Amino acid sequence: MKFSSLIGNEPIKRRLQRSVADGRIGQSLIFAGQRGIGKHQFALALAQAVNCLQPLEGDACGVCTNCKKFAAREFTDVKTIEPIGQFIKVEQMREMSEEANFMPYEGRRRVYILDEAERLNLAAANSILKILEEPPDTSLLLLITAKPYALLETIRSRCQMLNFAPLATSALEAYLQANYKRPLAETTLLARLARGSIGRALEIDLGEYKEKRGAMMELLEALTVSRDSIRLMSFAEMLGRKLDKAGFENHVDLLLLLLEDLFHLKLGKSIDALTNADILPRLEAVAEVTSLEKIMEWVEKLEAVLQNLARNINRHIAMEALLITA
Ligand SMILES: [Zn+2]
Repeated sequence: MKFSSLIGNEPIKRRLQRSVADGRIGQSLIFAGQRGIGKHQFALALAQAVNCLQPLEGDACGVCTNCKKFAAREFTDVKTIEPIGQFIKVEQMREMSEEANFMPYEGRRRVYILDEAERLNLAAANSILKILEEPPDTSLLLLITAKPYALLETIRSRCQMLNFAPLATSALEAYLQANYKRPLAETTLLARLARGSIGRALEIDLGEYKEKRGAMMELLEALTVSRDSIRLMSFAEMLGRKLDKAGFENHVDLLLLLLEDLFHLKLGKSIDALTNADILPRLEAVAEVTSLEKIMEWVEKLEAVLQNLARNINRHIAMEALLITA
């Protein structure tokens, strides 16, 4: 993994490359930022760069013996440590701390990448304080987390923290376009749904999304264009009774996303502001017969229903009230 093949977070990339080039990379770093924006990939790029035999401007060369081993996942001085079950355990951290004191086996630095570092339990966290305080020159500890506030203060204060930002939609779209074969409209939709996270973009099942969206779009049409009360009753039945709680939340979230698009349309925003730009004509038809006030009212009511779910309200009655009296 080379820095040059990564997208987004350019300032962090430049800073890390400069530090590698100057030979003054810290010993313990925290990579903080939401899930799926490339923190682990950056950690791998850094691990490779510090172990490359002929780095160029702080980036790995990609062709030396170490780089080749790295690409084949055979490079033994770089390890990723993940939680076992719910936590990163004290045994894992003791083993790491002991090992880190040995000279690297074949590279320059022994690199440990701790994924989901906020899952270090108290004992495990305490067991690495010593190595954070007196790290061997030949070790590099990279703590990856989406919840930096959940790390112990004693750990945070001993590491340098780098804050990763979500990717711009356009950058994510370009990345997906270059790496995955898909019609452009689908790539655009995926990039917008993922809200800056490559990880999320790769997890989303577009077929499933479109199916649910189709249903929620029909609901909006029945509510506005056709004013089909029989159809609305059956939607209230589906949302209120047939779906489980997670399925219900999922559909309502989608409905809110469609309402957000309608809101943008009513405000005269450009198509670039819409998540579901691929169904523009259908959205426009609904927007045409609906007022901005009505859209805002639905959003408010739906959010109230979601909030009240915790109190076990009768979903069916709530949905009927929302759809039939609307
Ligand atoms: Zn190399």
